[in-house]
Amino acid sequence: MTSSGKKSYLFYQTRRRRPMLDQARDVYMWDVDGKRYLDGSSGAMVCNIGHSNPHVLEAMRRQMEKSTFGYRLHFETEPAERLAEKTASLTPAGLDKVFFVSGGSEAVESAIKLARQHAVAVGEAQRWKVISRQPSYHGCTLGALALTGYAPLTAPFDAMMRPMPKIPAPRAYLDGLDPDDEATGHRYADMLEARIVEEGPETVLAFINEPVGGASTGALVPPVGYMQRIREICDRYGVLLIHDEVMTGGGRTGRFFGADHWGVAPDIIAISKGFAAGYAPLGAMVAHERIVDPVLDAGGFLHGFTYAGNPLACAAGLAVIEEIETKGMMENAIRVGDVLKSRLSALMQRYPIVGDVRGKGLMLAFELVANRETMQPLPKELGAFDRLVEIAYDNGLIIYSRRTRGGYEGDHFMVCPPMIATEDHVEEIMDGLTRSLDTFM
Ligand code: PLP
Repeated sequence: MTSSGKKSYLFYQTRRRRPMLDQARDVYMWDVDGKRYLDGSSGAMVCNIGHSNPHVLEAMRRQMEKSTFGYRLHFETEPAERLAEKTASLTPAGLDKVFFVSGGSEAVESAIKLARQHAVAVGEAQRWKVISRQPSYHGCTLGALALTGYAPLTAPFDAMMRPMPKIPAPRAYLDGLDPDDEATGHRYADMLEARIVEEGPETVLAFINEPVGGASTGALVPPVGYMQRIREICDRYGVLLIHDEVMTGGGRTGRFFGADHWGVAPDIIAISKGFAAGYAPLGAMVAHERIVDPVLDAGGFLHGFTYAGNPLACAAGLAVIEEIETKGMMENAIRVGDVLKSRLSALMQRYPIVGDVRGKGLMLAFELVANRETMQPLPKELGAFDRLVEIAYDNGLIIYSRRTRGGYEGDHFMVCPPMIATEDHVEEIMDGLTRSLDTFM
């Protein structure tokens, strides 16, 4: 049934239906009954530049009048060329080869397949294991899912996937460690080295991580020294480093890529959500030339999607980046993000169940716990994960949640409004959130 009671022919994950969206502008969305919502999570951390941006709509309209599809084996298209060049200008030196896809799972899938073909091309066919973190989310296609450290999502499919090794995500706040102490960062990073050695270094192809954790860890910022040490370890063992920037790419943390905060260059980057910011399905895998060239020399990359490099999606992506740059949105994400983070942190005084607030720029999250000292989670039966999101939704505030800590023992909530949010929007978010927490309590 749709929300208006008519039979629906659509289905997604569950039977739950939502109000019909009528229109969206800037940070607001309206349903067909005229109810207004503040998009406090930019959808699923996607609509980074806000809704209905006139510059992007105009760029898409212009492109639509020229062409909306050119199959990549028949034509090059100018928007794809220009977006590839622009993207390469934003990545670390050498990461100059851009492979377009239509979403985050496709970007991750492409990254691991390129890594694998590179190993085969350079005579290291025994390398196939991709180490990832627990918890993590890298996508829902079987390749990306095998890397995902989140049992409730993976369990039914385990029989269909080759198990991939996992190491713990660096959740210093849960382990009672100081994230500002380099020893903490090294301690977690060294778990990668131990795992590589245990697996047999000659069998390990790559390590994949989210520079700032997405919904799986709730905006987890790695401890000092972690990112650099991970890079060193990968280099030591000839393991490729893949950054899953599907959520962090596009400026939300205050830098175009999350890893830019640490000046660490990976071998391959996966991007999607903020890349075309919801204006079109778009993603990309960006790889270093030294990875791509041997694969192309050996006969070509055995991988590609029909919609790759769609000119309309690429025109949207290009216009999105132009807006981020010309409107200073990354600077705004840092400025308004600081205000929002301190206002969220203040919730800890008022609500003992708010156990942690974390994140960078406008990629922020708070976590609810039963006991702040021990960080013991709320009882699963309370269903905080769903309930608070629903209460906020009724209050006209959209926030995003996913249970973590292996599946059922914790509740965190992403608060990630578009990068055009102002301090007035922060006040509105906090008002919706406190009203929702009051009801929840
Ligand atoms: N990687 C990360 C870090 C994500 O957050 C997501 C989506 O949430 C994905 C990959 C998968 O992206 P998509 O849902 O576009 O396939």
